Amino acid sequence: MSGQHPAIGRAEIIAVGTEMLGGGRTDTNSVFLTRHLEELGIEVQAKSVVADDFQLLERIVAEALARTELVLVTGGLGPTDDDVTRAAVAAALGRPLDEDEAIVAAIRTRFVRRGYEMPSINRRQGMVIGGAVVLPNAVGTAPGQWVEVDCKVIVLLPGPPRELEPMFLQEVKPRLETRVAGEQIVRRTVRLIGRTESHAEERLRPLYAAWRAQVPPVTATILAGRGQIELHLASRSIDPAVARRALAGATADVEQAFGRDVCSTDGRALEEVVGDLLREKSLRIAIAESCTAGMIAARLTAVPGSSAYVEGGVVAYSNQAKVALLGVPLSVIEEHGAVSEPVAVAMAEGARAVLGAGVGVGVTGIAGPGGGSEGKPVGTVVVAVAGPGPDVVARTFLFPGTRQHVRVFSTTAALDMVRRSIQFPA
Ligand code: ATP
Repeated sequence: MSGQHPAIGRAEIIAVGTEMLGGGRTDTNSVFLTRHLEELGIEVQAKSVVADDFQLLERIVAEALARTELVLVTGGLGPTDDDVTRAAVAAALGRPLDEDEAIVAAIRTRFVRRGYEMPSINRRQGMVIGGAVVLPNAVGTAPGQWVEVDCKVIVLLPGPPRELEPMFLQEVKPRLETRVAGEQIVRRTVRLIGRTESHAEERLRPLYAAWRAQVPPVTATILAGRGQIELHLASRSIDPAVARRALAGATADVEQAFGRDVCSTDGRALEEVVGDLLREKSLRIAIAESCTAGMIAARLTAVPGSSAYVEGGVVAYSNQAKVALLGVPLSVIEEHGAVSEPVAVAMAEGARAVLGAGVGVGVTGIAGPGGGSEGKPVGTVVVAVAGPGPDVVARTFLFPGTRQHVRVFSTTAALDMVRRSIQFPA
């Protein structure tokens, strides 16, 4: 718990470095820091990546400090002219920047130990912001700095992850532990399939309001993609069991609102859910893919241990392959077209029979951009699932987007139909 200081509950992270704006490097430090701050119950509200630009950084630091209680600045602590962090933060705070002889001596010793003289530019790394606590760098030359500003804190950390990570864990985290209210954030992910984002949002809106009003409140973020919707729920409490109970209540609300469209409530991906269902029922699956050409098999087998339930897959792209490899009657293809429910059914049944599996899935479609017609436009995809019992189900979808989008949506639709066939047999 905090002593004489008010508790720190919110933070912003500023990653300094022009190299991270052009795609040359990615800011991974903020991901590491966010994970650890969340463990402490500190919510990261914003992160920015800023060029090595003194004036811009000065402004962004001042703005962040006005908004939040903790600001972590990473990078730009090196010895060269483009390392502007120390000076920009000092300017934002209106504090002096003074050389600390002890730091310079320690840097000099590091060089001497390696048989070099210390270049004079390294003196910059001994510049300390007025009132800062110096954080030793066990791995590199640039020390970090912890600066108290009224009731707020700003911390300067080196850019290289191998320097930042130990410094954060050894020097910053223990200090923060004494400054948090002691609450922990607990999260839970619920996956929904079979609804559009706006449809889901409409149903969720009254739930959001109820969750916000309860103690402890539950917050929710909705994320749509690849034909599915992820609902990220979060709650915070001093007792994590209390936060977990709040999330369990919210999850039950979602299950009640969405029924069979709830794919998982524990963060598992669709392919893991399907795998677990197949394993539970001691079933094996065979896949016949035309327009997805192996993507469904790839998704299923990306899960470790999938050999327990994946029998195999057939890529049957041409009509000839559908006939030769899966026993689809040519007459069915000629009568209904390759993209049709009878062909998808024959593919699913063929895969199941050829490979001797309990469940067969067949997918055929027009991924585009060419090949569409008025009756069967680009994006038309047919999925059939044979099994686990004698039942065979088939559905025709019309997916939007590029060739790749259509193919990805098709894999999600097919795996979800397998899930429903096992979970809710007719
Ligand atoms: P140094 O003393 O090494 O100069 P520094 O604090 O000045 O440290 P930078 O010069 O800004 O750090 O960055 C050094 C290297 O650290 C970058 O080239 C990059 O590889 C890595 N780095 C910097 N910032 C980040 C970040 N936010 N996420 C991941 N890596 C980073």
